[in-house]
Amino acid sequence: KPLTIIITVIGVIAIVALVTVAGLQNRPVFQKYKYGIVLDAGSSHTALYIYKWPAEKDNNTGRIEQKHSCKVKGKGISSYAAVPEKAGTSLTECMQEAEMQVPAWRHQETPLYLGATAGMRLLNMENKVASDKVFEAVEKALQRFPFSYQGARILSGQEEGAFGWVTVNYLDDRLKQGLQTTGALDLGGASTQISFVPHEYDISESPSNAVAFQLYGNYYNLYTHSFLCYGKDQALRMALAHQTRSGPIAISDPCFHPDYSVTRNYNTLYDSPCVSERKPKVAPLNFTHTGEGNFLQCQEVIRSLFNFKSCKYSKCSFNGIFQPPVQGSFGAFSAYYFVMNFLNLTDGSMSLETITNYVANYCSTPWDQIKKVYPDINEKYLAEYCFSGTYILTLLTEGYNFNTETFSKIKFIKEIKGSDAGWTLGYMLNLTNMIPAETKDSPPLPHA
Ligand code: AMP
Repeated sequence: KPLTIIITVIGVIAIVALVTVAGLQNRPVFQKYKYGIVLDAGSSHTALYIYKWPAEKDNNTGRIEQKHSCKVKGKGISSYAAVPEKAGTSLTECMQEAEMQVPAWRHQETPLYLGATAGMRLLNMENKVASDKVFEAVEKALQRFPFSYQGARILSGQEEGAFGWVTVNYLDDRLKQGLQTTGALDLGGASTQISFVPHEYDISESPSNAVAFQLYGNYYNLYTHSFLCYGKDQALRMALAHQTRSGPIAISDPCFHPDYSVTRNYNTLYDSPCVSERKPKVAPLNFTHTGEGNFLQCQEVIRSLFNFKSCKYSKCSFNGIFQPPVQGSFGAFSAYYFVMNFLNLTDGSMSLETITNYVANYCSTPWDQIKKVYPDINEKYLAEYCFSGTYILTLLTEGYNFNTETFSKIKFIKEIKGSDAGWTLGYMLNLTNMIPAETKDSPPLPHA
């Protein structure tokens, strides 16, 4: 009897072992996820995003989520124009992190993309040779890693706007379900994008602002526009250029706190295609930049950056750019979020009037007091929140024509369900064909 028991036990173990081995052969242990990596080479910094999705779903239709992000140390790649190799080496640490995050056996099949935005658009306009060298260095650095490198390129403003919109609506599950979509407002350092599906939209009025999508069997006519130079860093340059246009030795700036005072260099300020043509012919080397803290006067300065005069369309935002009336809810991300979050204005229940009063009061607070209240915040950012907050409010209300009612439909967001809002996810979804034009539930229309 004991012998039969032993033989039975050995038999069972053998069968279990055989089944397990057979199972493992068909289905590797780590088959659960696939991965994709996108580097967002922005004007002020580069960020790396790793996305993952279930490997076993047909045609990669499973939900994609952000697994990890890494902020590259130092400035954006366009700042390395004079030392391009450093643009490449700056990415090493985050790329090594990506090597650790993605299972080794998936490395070779993991697509890796780098998309550069307005910082590189400006460098490309200013100095094409330098911009090409930065890309060469970046390509070389990325190709050293074991991923499936798919290239580095500058996104057009239209792509940046449209992919930001895809990201927000994908993460909110609006596309698959064919729900009303959410508009996307993106504020970078060098450009800003607005994208939404207008109520009544005659795309022929300005075809360059129209992007047509067919996603999961639904059709979308998206309006999108990217304003180069209207990101918050370049807008600040333009505001300072406006105030220093006659080459004074000192300016008193309503967009900075009372008692704020720094010395700035004329060459540094005017070293950007957004302002270089306005550089005063005669100016000292430096000027003193002091603050005045006056919201209404700051708005006046910011208004001067927008041209509201010429519009050859039925409706314009500014600078003669066509824009239909804003429609529906909006997600505002990137610097919109950083600034409004710092000012504690992301709660969603506050009216435009309350927010405006808050920013006005914040601007009039003396600089010494601000520094005392926020000792841990980077002083460069801290000094600029008055300007940035005023800029955001002016851009939204006077630039894009949000009013009290439509403003209340803007949500200032950093992420949705754990994935950052921004163009990168939409870009990857598009390049990997991960949003089908049709779904199984809604087959293509039959031919007549
Ligand atoms: P970009 O590098 O073009 O994507 O632009 C990002 C913008 O966000 C730049 O204007 C940065 O200065 C700004 N930014 C990033 N982090 C913060 C922060 N914590 N507070 C304020 N602005 C920020």
